[in-house]
Amino acid sequence: MRLGVMGGTFDPVHNGHLVAASEVASLFDLDRVVFVPSGQPWQKTHRVVSATEDRYLMTFLATAENPQFTVSRLEIDRAGASYTIETLRTLRDERPDDELFFITGADALAQIFTWRDHQELFALAHFVGVSRPGYHLSLDGALPPGTVSLLEVPALAISSSDIRERVRRGAPIWYLTPDGVVRYIAKRGLYHASERDPRA
Ligand code: ATP
Ligand code: MG
Repeated sequence: MRLGVMGGTFDPVHNGHLVAASEVASLFDLDRVVFVPSGQPWQKTHRVVSATEDRYLMTFLATAENPQFTVSRLEIDRAGASYTIETLRTLRDERPDDELFFITGADALAQIFTWRDHQELFALAHFVGVSRPGYHLSLDGALPPGTVSLLEVPALAISSSDIRERVRRGAPIWYLTPDGVVRYIAKRGLYHASERDPRA
């Protein structure tokens, strides 16, 4: 099986993530894309991240109708910080015959050398960097040849931070994320004013 792996905080998951996964699945002929919501993310310790269970359920709601998409509890059920390398090792061990394609935003890819054990990462999976609108990525041959593909997804200036900020100020988030996620955020009262995001 050709398996796409889409890691993220997904706080909340949005249509940018879904379009990126769908586009990569089509272009790379993937059989399935598994979304892997992170545990408490080590690179985002400067803000309060929503409960793992909320992020898992939103990701579940957003992907449930697509027969190619699934959600994994791998990182959220693991205690402590999440590292991509551990996730990829676990997936490789669980499914030794699968070919792994790790899908990540180009912004995250640019920081790849700050990740733990980045050399081994490229041996475990092919990396697909999707660029966001206005983001110019130059990797300058810094990465091993043939291990990384870059592609542009249809212009979607959607980010989780913007969605959180919109909820805080009462702006609509319809159509930025699936309807089920919009309703779940309202039902649980996520991202409202009292839950301040220091980056906003
Ligand atoms: P935040 O605004 O809090 O940083 P985010 O929107 O970047 O959140 P993440 O959960 O951090 O969402 O993203 C998971 C992955 O999806 C990352 O690799 C990120 O670069 C990528 N990504 C996020 N938004 C988009 C988008 N609109 N188009 C394509 N890829 C995206
Ligand atoms: Mg981000």
